[in-house]
Amino acid sequence: MASKLIVGNWKMHGSHPANAELLAGIVAARPFIAEVAVCVPFPYLAETVVGLAAHDIRWGAQDCSAHDQGAYTGEVSAAMLAEFGCRYAIVGHSERRAYHAESDQLVADKAKAALARGITPIVCVGETLAQREAGETEAVVKRQLSAVIHTLAHCASEMVVAYEPVWAIGTGRTASPEQAQAVHALLRAQLRAATPHAAGMKILYGGSVKPDNAATLFAQPDIDGGLIGGASLKAADFVAICRAAG
Ligand code: PEP
Repeated sequence: MASKLIVGNWKMHGSHPANAELLAGIVAARPFIAEVAVCVPFPYLAETVVGLAAHDIRWGAQDCSAHDQGAYTGEVSAAMLAEFGCRYAIVGHSERRAYHAESDQLVADKAKAALARGITPIVCVGETLAQREAGETEAVVKRQLSAVIHTLAHCASEMVVAYEPVWAIGTGRTASPEQAQAVHALLRAQLRAATPHAAGMKILYGGSVKPDNAATLFAQPDIDGGLIGGASLKAADFVAICRAAG
């Protein structure tokens, strides 16, 4: 069985001392059976490289520009992230879609820019509570994923997908394993229609994953790991979630 992938999303949290403690706590808990990575704020990439480089834990960013370079003040390109050895870049997180009005096509272009620099995009999709209650979950996640599949074309199998129901992010209200599995199965079917490599692609679940609910979520057949927000900020919790993955 392929190993699970657990990715911490630190969001806009951290400080030099807190980062050092967190990274040391993760490193001290090695080895993991799951593949483990942390996606940190841009200014903390350099210290993350130093903290993790000698170990088998990977790192990445929480966004990247759709452009490779140029007059795009405030943006950070995939080329720059590659210089820091980033393995992953989260794109299309619901917080960026909501607060920065990122469209499906912009998210797809960011995923393409990441791949062009050898960085695996972790493409987030997910419905709001209103959309779920209106019975629109399937249409929303399919639309979001479809833009990326079409833009990446024959490279689509190289992305990681993260299903993150917006109503479960940072709320403490996680999707039940059955709810999550149902959407993951839909996404897998959509990937299967697009690429012969869908079975080997990773589809992560994200949304209030904690040490006490991680194992049952990760036991679902189409859940290949987790994208972990709040619980990735405490080494003990993050380590417990990584262990729950295998
Ligand atoms: C996230 O931000 O990607 C996330 C899943 O957050 P949380 O685990 O805090 O719900």
